[in-house]
Amino acid sequence: MRTLALLALILASAWATEKRYDGYKVVQVKAKDVPSFQTLAKLYDEQSSIYDFWTEPRSLEEPIDIMVPPAYTETFERLLQTHNLEHRIKIADVQSAIEISRKDQASPTVVQEPRSRSGSLRYKLNWTEYHDYTTIVLFLAELAQNYPDIVTLITIGKTHENREMYMVKISNSQTSNATKNAILVDGGIHAREWIAPAFNTWLIHELVENYAAHPQYLDNLDWYILPVMNPDGYVYSFADDRLWRKNRNPVNGPCVGIDLNRNFGFHWNEGGSAGNGCDDTYHGPAAFSEDESANARDAILLVAERTKVYLSYHSYSQVWLTPWGYTVDLPEDYPLLFDLAQNAVNNLTAVYGTQYSVGSTTGLLYVASGGSIDWIKGDAGIPYAYTVELRDTGDYGFLLPADQIIPNNLEMWEAVKVVADYTMTIAN
Ligand SMILES: [Zn+2]
Repeated sequence: MRTLALLALILASAWATEKRYDGYKVVQVKAKDVPSFQTLAKLYDEQSSIYDFWTEPRSLEEPIDIMVPPAYTETFERLLQTHNLEHRIKIADVQSAIEISRKDQASPTVVQEPRSRSGSLRYKLNWTEYHDYTTIVLFLAELAQNYPDIVTLITIGKTHENREMYMVKISNSQTSNATKNAILVDGGIHAREWIAPAFNTWLIHELVENYAAHPQYLDNLDWYILPVMNPDGYVYSFADDRLWRKNRNPVNGPCVGIDLNRNFGFHWNEGGSAGNGCDDTYHGPAAFSEDESANARDAILLVAERTKVYLSYHSYSQVWLTPWGYTVDLPEDYPLLFDLAQNAVNNLTAVYGTQYSVGSTTGLLYVASGGSIDWIKGDAGIPYAYTVELRDTGDYGFLLPADQIIPNNLEMWEAVKVVADYTMTIAN
């Protein structure tokens, strides 16, 4: 038996093609003055295929998280010394952080399978670990089957690699009428931001399976949730490269992938996106060139009229962002957008003290054109459009340990409740 197990282990490791990050470090760097900030901005512009900027250079005050490969550790250290840059190591070994993040270390390894009232096995998905795309889709299908009066699973088209994309409609058909306001939610447009789909599945579960605790949210509102906006990238981040961000369209020779959140068609390619296909923020050959963004556009336009709020979940940074991303100008109704966001964040912070900042994309982050919220507000006409960057602030970054999924979800649910209460009051 032991020989067999050993053989299986050897075979498994021989077949494993997943990219490893042994010896990679994440270093937080802070510029002290304009020239040292410019050095970092130049590094970002010219060498982002070597140094993965987990957060982008945005202002002098904000520290930047940069992943450094082992072959460049010394070069990078010299650069830090030469330019007198303040820095500290946030993740000493990215591979170890990847392994730790996957499962809730505190939970028992054998968890009793949840069962439905009839005794049959319920879905395998839970929130003590991150789940692959297949498990998420099975979860959605089972909810649609068990709650046919509330949940409708809508296929909205196929991805580049021919996977089905799903939107979940959650609506109480008993109270259905054409004038209910709607809230639209998405997540996972960037593959490696696993906490976003992990929140969206939880939100679906809470709205549907805990309906009795807050019936008003389904009696007075409809919800459209796209839990995983970039299925090909998400699958790739599970099997091949944990830190993959873009979709998987090999449109650019040796370099694969388009940043779907730079591919939306409102002021597309007007700054803050890359024309080089090898870059992580490559905007693609044209607006909506990608199956995933085009499918999302078409699905959203069908429900845009009644939709008042759009929440697009990302990670990380703990910020709640309003449009615009393409310009430093603010939308005319910015004070309304800001107030709702701030109220939501206040409720969130009350749970565990987690701090979120509120502001416009360009005000808090950086110019980033082709983002989904700009198109949602500018073209689809959904007034309250937000990008929300979930936990954390960089201690783990994209590798948020699984034992933070539930706390993240509980506090974010308190924010969503504020948004839902407000959405019911918005006049048509
Ligand atoms: Zn993102």
